[in-house]
Amino acid sequence: MKRLRVLSVASEVYPLVKTGGLADVVAALPAALAREGVETRTLVPGYPGVIDALHGAEAIHTHAHLHGGPARLLAAHAAGLDLLVLDAPHLYARPGNPYLGPDGAPWADNALRFAALAQCAASIARGAVPGFAPDVVQAHDWQAGLVPALLHYAGGPRPGTVMTVHNLAFQGQFPPELLATIGLPPHAYGIDGVEYYGTIGYLKAGLALADRITTVSPTYAAEILTPEGGMGLDGLLRHRADVLTGILNGIDDALWNPETDVHLVQRFDASHLARRAANKAALQARLGLDVAPSAFLFGVVSRLTLQKGMDLLLEALPTLIRHGAQLALLGAGDKPLEDAFAAAAARIPGRLAAVIGYGESLAHLMQGSVDALLVPSRFEPCGLTQLCALRYGAVPVVARVGGLADTVIDADESAPAAGTGTGIQFAPVSRGNLELAIGRAVALWRDVGTWRALQARAMATDVGWTRPARHYAALFRALAAHRPA
Ligand code: ADP
Repeated sequence: MKRLRVLSVASEVYPLVKTGGLADVVAALPAALAREGVETRTLVPGYPGVIDALHGAEAIHTHAHLHGGPARLLAAHAAGLDLLVLDAPHLYARPGNPYLGPDGAPWADNALRFAALAQCAASIARGAVPGFAPDVVQAHDWQAGLVPALLHYAGGPRPGTVMTVHNLAFQGQFPPELLATIGLPPHAYGIDGVEYYGTIGYLKAGLALADRITTVSPTYAAEILTPEGGMGLDGLLRHRADVLTGILNGIDDALWNPETDVHLVQRFDASHLARRAANKAALQARLGLDVAPSAFLFGVVSRLTLQKGMDLLLEALPTLIRHGAQLALLGAGDKPLEDAFAAAAARIPGRLAAVIGYGESLAHLMQGSVDALLVPSRFEPCGLTQLCALRYGAVPVVARVGGLADTVIDADESAPAAGTGTGIQFAPVSRGNLELAIGRAVALWRDVGTWRALQARAMATDVGWTRPARHYAALFRALAAHRPA
């Protein structure tokens, strides 16, 4: 089979820079694709976390002026990846969140920061890196959305382009006056091009002009074609439905492996589920919860946002407590939600714990400890935490939306006798249905045999990257075979 070359363009890559699941996917997919004969190089901005991780980087190009300052394209191996890094300190040498300044507002020059990334990608796509002529360029989310547009309007031979949507809620809209500055011709500003409600839409541009569109679950691929799920882009997506595919994400099952996880107090597998008890006790002690094996422990590892249904969970807390359960929450996000969870935990210390912040190690311990992981999202393109939960026997209790619908099988609806359930789903997403799902989880847990069987089935779910990578590889090959001239 011919080796295929892919340029992956993204603004995040685990563990160098991460605000969400995008970073995990960008980091994990290349190794799985390599097993399918696909070679990936990943272009990312030179944020401080990226630059610090580079050793022996080679400068391939230098630009005297790229949107206000000098820039270099660096090539290096880091984090197990073949990285290409756009080192432009005036655009990216800023600590903290990659998109937001210290005041919590988006950086004023985000349009230029991500136009620079896309322009760099377009030049690589057209041969700027010696010895690397990509067959396909995969653009992840709005930060890379201009790549298909720049290649389309440049004309001439080019690789196939794939726009991958990890979350349609983030769209990147900027003033139309920037059109020429970001390298687009006047005729690009139209309904079939980059124009989007009077702005330049970076994600819209990618969706309109990429050869293929993928998103991260089949159900989300269907949801975004509807006015309810399309976030203003459903009309365009319906128009392009023939090139849209939903491919589920996986997780790195070496990184997320309860048999070898160094963050656990006690490692375990599906045949030794009783060992989880030591993790639960350790987590309860660490978070100041009552160290009670007999208390059902729910966990949350999430951005604290309305998308994730965290307001519904706040409202459901009295019910959760009434069931005699505990909640351990790890999350950061909207300030009012952070404050509300911190206040609730302070009110009921032995039963509710809220760690406001980001913690990789604690996230692992939570997955290996909690009896159930709650994911009450209003919409969820794929979701990764429920995949980790499945692998760790933390029974996922999820809203039946997007990738959550595709990855969790409801224990009741599959009929307990059929023995196919891997978690609990509820729909439609409401406080009442979340409360019912919480009650169902606690009730099921009272029967140790039923619960253990449910955990074991959850842990047997295939959550790795092999299957998704085959799907991507097939899509890339088909595209490369019909490569536009
Ligand atoms: P999203 O990308 O919408 O935030 P996903 O479930 O797809 O949601 O991916 C979230 C990723 O970030 C998962 O790997 C999850 O474990 C991790 N994560 C989210 N919040 C935290 C946190 N506070 N601490 C540690 N990891 C977190």
